[in-house]
Amino acid sequence: MIDPRKCTEVLCACCEELGLHGGRGLCHTCYRRHLAAGTLAQYPRLQTWLSAQGRIADFAELRERGLTVREAAEQIGVSLRTAERYQARLNSQEGVAAA
Ligand SMILES: [Zn+2]
Repeated sequence: MIDPRKCTEVLCACCEELGLHGGRGLCHTCYRRHLAAGTLAQYPRLQTWLSAQGRIADFAELRERGLTVREAAEQIGVSLRTAERYQARLNSQEGVAAA
């Protein structure tokens, strides 16, 4: 099921092709590639497009790959304090899931 509100088309800042928006002005493919390569920081965050929920999802993925809270914070471009808040939220969600 595709939610059209989450599939804004964007002229990708990386490959310059029109594609589904993945975040930071990048198409989904490039966004995932930069996220995996750790080069996402070179693209500015788009506060209006990339919701906090999306950043928390990115943060969770980086943490699953074994990054520390500090490293994950640097990857997604938030402060350590913000990342710690994300972590606390993730912990509470896991607590709910496990209960
Ligand atoms: Zn692209």
